[in-house]
Amino acid sequence: MSFTLPQLDYAYDALEPHIDARTMEIHHSKHHQGYTNKLNAATEGTENDSKDILDILSNLDMTNMPLRNNAGGYYNHKLFWEIMSPNGNNKMSDELKSAIDNSFGTFDNFKDSFSKAAAMRFGSGWAWLCVKDGQLQICSTANQDNPLMPSIGCGGTPILGLDVWEHAYYLNYQNRRPDYINAFFSVINWGVVSEKFNQVS
Ligand code: MN
Repeated sequence: MSFTLPQLDYAYDALEPHIDARTMEIHHSKHHQGYTNKLNAATEGTENDSKDILDILSNLDMTNMPLRNNAGGYYNHKLFWEIMSPNGNNKMSDELKSAIDNSFGTFDNFKDSFSKAAAMRFGSGWAWLCVKDGQLQICSTANQDNPLMPSIGCGGTPILGLDVWEHAYYLNYQNRRPDYINAFFSVINWGVVSEKFNQVS
């Protein structure tokens, strides 16, 4: 089995002005393609050859750095493209809305906590909204790690992820990571996040 680069459901310029077309094109066609190619190289001819990505991540040998970095990179970016939309902020389900209120008090509190997790991640990494034991949790992870990997982050299942590597925002935002984080909230596809929440909760 080999992995292929997931296609976007929208054009590279569809998320402007929040995320610019050039960043999207390089991020998808170069960075994500690179993780995909290297994941194939890291699994070919190994016991991981016929496994799906969730199986690879949950049973990962964390000392296998090529597999760790590229399985993470492949999965993380696939999720990232799915949970964004040019019609951002389309409807969140009542179930997810209630879960956010239960875990964080208000949506604004959730946004503050998530934004802090993303802003405070030193260097490269991701911020996550996860479901763990039916509850929502926020965490962040370094590099291309994610909470599906053994003993990483909050250990939940991600339903929303934000890439805070500089390659995700530097062309448009330079050092202004907080502005990029804020802009991300304008392009979140809450419909898809709600579906993912329903699947794991
Ligand atoms: Mn990235």
